[in-house]
Amino acid sequence: MSHLLADDLDLKQWASLSNTERNDRMKILIFTDPDTGKKGCTLCKKLVARPYDHIENVHLCLAAYQCDFCDKSFKSRNLRAQHVHYNHKEEKKVRMIISGNKNPQKY
Ligand SMILES: [Zn+2]
Ligand SMILES: [Zn+2]
Repeated sequence: MSHLLADDLDLKQWASLSNTERNDRMKILIFTDPDTGKKGCTLCKKLVARPYDHIENVHLCLAAYQCDFCDKSFKSRNLRAQHVHYNHKEEKKVRMIISGNKNPQKY
């Protein structure tokens, strides 16, 4: 599809590009839904709120911390913890209780 996702993409070099340059390269992977005008990712054919972040995080694997509950990934452990806290509070609690953790509030 594109050299952008080649195995030999130098991620350090990628990180040194300006936002505009990176967005410019990622543009070809983003489509606009004709009905809603929302942006989507051509790789997974999903509409995403922040397509550039999505491509970098999900398809360039710049984010190493993947959520246990959904397919989002994050650049730091903290961001992931925050995400779990706001989006998967109940799942987390249930999982903790089932696994025998006596203090489900504590992460
Ligand atoms: Zn995608
Ligand atoms: Zn999640």
